[in-house]
Amino acid sequence: MNKKVLIELNQVQKKWDGGSSNAGVPVLSNINLSIYAGEFLAILGPSGSGKSTLLRIIAGLTPASSGKITYLGLEYQGVNPGAAMVFQSFALFPWLTILENVLVGLDSKDLPANVKKEKALAVIDMVGLDGFENAYPKELSGGMQQRVGLGRALVSDPDVLLMDEPFSALDVLTAENLRRDILELWRENKIPTKSIIMVTHGIEEAVYMADRILVVSGSPAGIHTDMPITLPHWRDKNAPAFISLVD
Ligand code: ADP
Ligand code: MG
Repeated sequence: MNKKVLIELNQVQKKWDGGSSNAGVPVLSNINLSIYAGEFLAILGPSGSGKSTLLRIIAGLTPASSGKITYLGLEYQGVNPGAAMVFQSFALFPWLTILENVLVGLDSKDLPANVKKEKALAVIDMVGLDGFENAYPKELSGGMQQRVGLGRALVSDPDVLLMDEPFSALDVLTAENLRRDILELWRENKIPTKSIIMVTHGIEEAVYMADRILVVSGSPAGIHTDMPITLPHWRDKNAPAFISLVD
């Protein structure tokens, strides 16, 4: 099977420099990883193992120390043009309205203001926040704030959606609702996003949502393979969303 590669990491390494206590110690070493069109990849690993760092490197928000990263075969400087990220702590701008926060996702796009606004309003509706466009983040619950984060990422129609522990700051029911809504958008092709990479430390969440799981073993992160656990065919997009690990 010939799967299209969207993002490729080749021998990527990250060391922190400067005065931090872990300066010079590789947090990621020899990462070789391909992200294929059509997949939902979960990156699973313990706290401190470098998952966020890996995602930020893929997003182009943190530079790698060495190695090569390509999007559609091309190396990029700075932000990955094909990716957008949802952050663990939402990372909304408190002084901007919901509409303005979502518009931030279109900052780098060369579109007329009215087209941007139309796109942003459509996305706000899609993530379930119709009517809240003029509210400020502090007026919204955590779950709603993360929906804004999701909208800001999706508004640019990224090929690859990156999510860094997107539910970890939410209570159980809120998290479950958002998981379901994201899976519905993804599985029913309601978003043009071709692939999703989600970082999590929950194995059930990874199995529940993803087609492929990559395990980061510890620090320094041990992603030395491009052949992670492959889940069976029932993980296809038409399969029922819920499975139990304790059956
Ligand atoms: P995870 O997301 O898996 O919990 P992180 O990628 O956040 O792990 O962090 C991996 C390691 O890198 C940790 O030891 C963390 O303390 C360190 N680290 C993360 N960000 C920085 C930074 N900006 N400067 C120095 N060290 C950092
Ligand atoms: Mg993290």
